[in-house]
Amino acid sequence: MVGCRYRGDERRRRGMIPPIANNFVAGESPAAAVQHARELNRRDVAVILNLLGEHYDDRADADADADAYIDLAETIARDDLDACISVKPSQIGLSLSDDAFRENLARIVAVADDHGVFVWVDMEDHPTTDVTLDAFERHARETDGNVGVCVQANLRRTRDDLARLAELPGKVRLVKGAYDEPGDIAYRQKAKVDEVYRDLLAFMFEAFDDGVAVGSHDPAMVDYAAELHAEHGTPYEVQMLMGVREEAQFDLAAEGVDVWQYVPYGGKWFSYFYRRVRERKSNALFALRAVVGR
Ligand code: FAD
Repeated sequence: MVGCRYRGDERRRRGMIPPIANNFVAGESPAAAVQHARELNRRDVAVILNLLGEHYDDRADADADADAYIDLAETIARDDLDACISVKPSQIGLSLSDDAFRENLARIVAVADDHGVFVWVDMEDHPTTDVTLDAFERHARETDGNVGVCVQANLRRTRDDLARLAELPGKVRLVKGAYDEPGDIAYRQKAKVDEVYRDLLAFMFEAFDDGVAVGSHDPAMVDYAAELHAEHGTPYEVQMLMGVREEAQFDLAAEGVDVWQYVPYGGKWFSYFYRRVRERKSNALFALRAVVGR
């Protein structure tokens, strides 16, 4: 179910993104993203803001996006939004060097933490896992848990990683995994990934004090998280993408579940939108209906 559509003047304010794409992307500017956040906050949905961009091989680009996140953290604090940010390691320097990534993440976290704004670190493909978890660990300790990291159920290593993360402050988002990883290090069958996701979720509800972030649109996983919460009392939140099962997001929020919508924005929207359309027939049909005006 797709919601939060915008028309006319609203679309112009959001920038040049066509209406079919702006169900999945808040707009090109930070102002559009902030406006979207305000609208969701009114419906008790909190927001994770992500500036679109990845795999930069020019340091100036990585530094510029880190600067943009710093400005965004200041805006979130100034406007008192129920929002946080989520950064991709390769967007802020990891494609250049580990040091470039560490330096930019440290800059972002320092300012965000000063303003009380939470920072998530997205997880990319498997060669980046160690450096990403190490950076998370450093900042989790330094900020006493004002950062979070994503882990992927499709990676065979994740059960061990979770045992390490359970000892740290900060939040952990469990997702199924978006990258096509080789069979020796990853489960490749969807049914197996689903089974592992459930097992890892159960482990997290038992072992994590700071709460569990369920990064999934899957009703079976969201229901299972509610069961585990009832059993263990561990706090949890559900995170879903903008434009995906939005009615479910609003329903869960109305039931009192802590719901966060992951909201991408920025000029590099096309490839993100294309991925959303490719991954699911209903999104493609939706895009087609928008094009033919039905
Ligand atoms: P799937 O396993 O794809 O689908 C299961 C069921 O969910 C479907 O049968 C259907 O009932 C429902 N569903 C799924 N999609 C839709 C849809 N479009 N419309 C309607 N129903 C649907 N991956 C990473 O590798 N690294 C990250 O840092 C990362 N961060 C993420 C952050 C968030 C907030 C979210 C939601 C996902 C993130 N992902 C990340 C992506 C994740 O790894 C999965 O690829 C993606 O979420 C698809 O898995 P799923 O569990 O949502 O549902």
